[in-house]
Amino acid sequence: MNCCECTYQKTLVLSLFEMFVNLQYNLIKCTCGFSFGSSKTENNYCTKCGSTSNLKVVERFEDADKLARAISFANIPSEISDELILKIKEKESKSKISKANNQNILGGLSILKKATDTDGNLTKSSLDKLLSEEGLIESSSEYLIGQAEVQGFLIRINENTWNWLS
Ligand SMILES: [Zn+2]
Repeated sequence: MNCCECTYQKTLVLSLFEMFVNLQYNLIKCTCGFSFGSSKTENNYCTKCGSTSNLKVVERFEDADKLARAISFANIPSEISDELILKIKEKESKSKISKANNQNILGGLSILKKATDTDGNLTKSSLDKLLSEEGLIESSSEYLIGQAEVQGFLIRINENTWNWLS
């Protein structure tokens, strides 16, 4: 064994020893608002502003993973977490809107089915006729057909006629 290996082993043994003695993972908060982790409760310094005073041990964890997670949560600026909450809410309301849209499309599909003749052809003029018969003047035949086309229900076979794909 040469000298280098010898030193390496000593360090390894020492750090293992330290691990068992100092089995603590502290979440420490500085007055500057930054949170960091340390295995010590004393003689710490803020890794952001360098302050060594007014550091508060907020919480202790039994493993480094939990501490790491707590640190990243603690350091999310409050305006960002507010923004995150807003985004989540926005997403939720959007999914409500898309549900409503889906229902519109389904409603539209039944109209389109009704306007289809026995050969399976759907024409814009038959749809227009049906829409006015049903009093659905606010629904445009172009829009309904366009939506069904986009969704893959209809395929255009000539200028005024569509067939069902499903
Ligand atoms: Zn600080």
